[in-house]
Amino acid sequence: MSEKKYVIAMDQGTTSSRAILFNKKGEIMSVVQREFPQIFPKPGWVEHDPMDIWSSQMGVTMEAMQRIDADPEDIAAIGITNQRETTVVWDAKTGRPVYNAIVWQCRRTSGMIDKLKADGLAQTVQKKTGLIPDAYFSASKIAWILENVPGVRERAERGELRFGTVDSWIIWNLTDGKVHATDRTNASRTMLFNIHTLDWDEEILSYFNIPRSMLPKVLPSSKLFGSTSKFGGNIPIAGAAGDQQAALFGQCGFEAGSVKSTYGTGGFMLMNTGADAILSKQGLLTTIAASAGEEVQYAFEGSVFIAGAAIQWLRDEMRMLKTSPQSEEYCRAVPDSNGIYIVPAFSGMGAPYWQQYARGTIVGITRGVSKDNFIRATVESLAYQTNDLLAAMTDEAELELQSLKVDGGASANDFLMQFQSDISNITIMRPKCIETTALGAAYLAGLAVGYWKDLDEIRENWQCGREFTPGIEPERRKKLLRGWKRAVQCAIFWAKEEENDDD
Ligand code: ADP
Repeated sequence: MSEKKYVIAMDQGTTSSRAILFNKKGEIMSVVQREFPQIFPKPGWVEHDPMDIWSSQMGVTMEAMQRIDADPEDIAAIGITNQRETTVVWDAKTGRPVYNAIVWQCRRTSGMIDKLKADGLAQTVQKKTGLIPDAYFSASKIAWILENVPGVRERAERGELRFGTVDSWIIWNLTDGKVHATDRTNASRTMLFNIHTLDWDEEILSYFNIPRSMLPKVLPSSKLFGSTSKFGGNIPIAGAAGDQQAALFGQCGFEAGSVKSTYGTGGFMLMNTGADAILSKQGLLTTIAASAGEEVQYAFEGSVFIAGAAIQWLRDEMRMLKTSPQSEEYCRAVPDSNGIYIVPAFSGMGAPYWQQYARGTIVGITRGVSKDNFIRATVESLAYQTNDLLAAMTDEAELELQSLKVDGGASANDFLMQFQSDISNITIMRPKCIETTALGAAYLAGLAVGYWKDLDEIRENWQCGREFTPGIEPERRKKLLRGWKRAVQCAIFWAKEEENDDD
């Protein structure tokens, strides 16, 4: 048997599909990416055509193989990572979707979630699924399709329809309808999956009136799902995980206490909590982490709504920057923010505050405050928000932090990374390869087929690009954090006043 050269990661994201071929060292040998159309039928509604998802993913994969003349025989396995929660329902016989994919961002089912809360089910749902009920998750989206697309309810009751998150949809198509499966991490984002018993939950299914026959089989993330002949030959599909979980795995976050923080448009932090599914009192989500074996591992998840988006705001609305990376030189031009704090709560604040009506707030302005200070305070806000999540996680998990690994576009900002290290009093490790999501999917698949022997072999691939260690006085750190807390209180106070206005 010839030596396999590559593992393919299919990275099916919200705005684009990508395929990357990795070699054994975890290096990118070929990458192709393609955007596909976003459909906005009404304000607040977001859809994708499932056929666009599938055809763009196939297209980029073939092209990525062709670019380096890779044959099917060269491919050890395919791993899939995907936009989470997005919901597809299709006909089991024809493979035709009965409706567009309802994308995670879509808010059309908010009313159903309000009702679920009014029905007193929020706590039960959190206990079972680890999630705080929200329209993001798949459950209410499936229910919407069943209730609103003509004929679909009857077909579902007759057992003719299948539901899947995007990973399932791709696996179904890759196997010509032979395999209807998902992995645990994706299942844990449906709000239908009991993360303790590792089974679909009867009570929640019946609340949403979703027939069990629609649901995929749930497998561990690193496992043989099936094989595909779509590229000629026979390639095993051997791994799948939702994007954030794949990224934690790609960052080698294998043990309890490992944390990764992604600084993209928004921010995502995941902490591996090992075999314990800890339920948060501060509004963090409990979810399943991707793991190499059969044993389940859990994670805490928290998000920052506005991270890199605040830098875009400086660039596009405030017109203070030409490019996002330019922010760094402004930050370095001054010794501090000159006493101002900017809380970019443009669309409310998430964990640990959960103030949906909070709005952006700037405090502490004096005559000496310059554009440099303004930009610096904005960049610093990414670190403060991340620190709030980190503090909530370490507090609730009662875990000693091993390291904070970072990725995402804004993690390229050295000033930001140093400031994060300073105020969180932690060593920040930024890897050389920041394509951690795709890499995680590749590792999961490669491990399942023996392309990589074990986790140690993968750990050897993780190379630190740069490390940042704390360099400020504890007193100064305390003072800065106190200031931030007061600024956040101002943003919340503002929201409270508005609530009173509404009365
Ligand atoms: P996403 O995956 O959410 O599209 P990316 O991981 O590509 O996001 O990161 C893009 C975001 O990072 C943008 O909001 C951009 O403003 C910000 N960004 C990129 N480079 C820098 C930088 N050097 N300093 C600060 N922010 C940056």
